[in-house]
Amino acid sequence: MDRCYNFCAGPAAVPEAVLEIARDEMLNWHGAGLSLMEMSHRSPEVMSVAERAERTLRELLGISDDYAVLFLQGGASTQFSAVPLNLLGSNNAADYVNTGQWSKKAIAEAKRYCNVNVVASSEDTKFSTIPPRDSWQVDSGAAYLHYTPNETIGGVEYFWTPQADVPLVADMSSTILSRPIEVSDFGVIYAGAQKNIGPAGLTLVIVRRDLLGNADDKCPAMLNWQVAADNDSMYNTPPTFALYLAGLVFDWLQQQGGLPAMEQINRRKAEKLYAAIDGSDFYANPVELASRSLMNIPFTLADAGLDKVFLQESEAAGLLNLKGHRSVGGMRASLYNAVSEAAVDALIAFMQDFEQRNA
Ligand SMILES: *Cc1c(COP(=O)(O)O)cnc(C)c1O
Repeated sequence: MDRCYNFCAGPAAVPEAVLEIARDEMLNWHGAGLSLMEMSHRSPEVMSVAERAERTLRELLGISDDYAVLFLQGGASTQFSAVPLNLLGSNNAADYVNTGQWSKKAIAEAKRYCNVNVVASSEDTKFSTIPPRDSWQVDSGAAYLHYTPNETIGGVEYFWTPQADVPLVADMSSTILSRPIEVSDFGVIYAGAQKNIGPAGLTLVIVRRDLLGNADDKCPAMLNWQVAADNDSMYNTPPTFALYLAGLVFDWLQQQGGLPAMEQINRRKAEKLYAAIDGSDFYANPVELASRSLMNIPFTLADAGLDKVFLQESEAAGLLNLKGHRSVGGMRASLYNAVSEAAVDALIAFMQDFEQRNA
């Protein structure tokens, strides 16, 4: 059976080498006589898998002991609530930047808990830009400043870190581990796993320890980061199998040369695809040049009437999940770490062939 190339925005491609290890270890993990998913989360085996995953992630991202690393559930969407519930304390205001659909969802959820000050918005450009930092109307009394470093739907990415006088909170769901970051610039980083970490069901939170302990009395224990930190992310049963797979992905990233190497590969992949789009009158990408995402590349066909046949033929060619998000239409190619350069080359070759036959 041939595996196809998967450009899904999420749940997304997982490195083939990781899937092979998981397959080989599926029935009998390291001679234990059972699958890892069948073991108690309190067993030494699962505890060692969790510890190793955290250690490798700390190495990859350069996370210091000043930060807790939490493996949670509920996806990034649950963190839209957990962020205000954990960080507001006695404060009643938070700053948010609105650069797209995920920003908007974070804002809508935060509004349940506090006054949300939208410091800047790119809605007037249909989310094809990032408002420059000096235009942001920040509130020096806000509990935190939240932004979305990579908007998965619009394909808009920050290649700079916003200066902030209050804790900076970042929804990195679709950019985490794609290139090095300076963790110490952030108060909180969170991400759903199913884009660039591993399978759905696992959520990563990296939080500066001095921000723990301020959760609202009504914050559910399951959303309270302090509770998770005190219990090594095992307050209840964690998604053990997803964590095991994430650990294998972290090992794989180290074998690739870590995040500096991934950045080089990811830049090469994205540049190729943008060059192919820009070099043709048949395809277009709407995002301003300085903010084009390395991970999610939306593109339209000059004649939207060809969208359906483009999707049918690309799928028949083994290029899966290129349909754009339902809110924007067109196409989207997600080029996460596990999407190989060969996959991008195959996509570009298909696009050029399709253009020749249909232009
Ligand atoms: C996918 C995504 C989410 C939602 O993640 P879930 O884990 O499905 O809740 C939130 N923010 C961004 C930037 C995303 O890409």
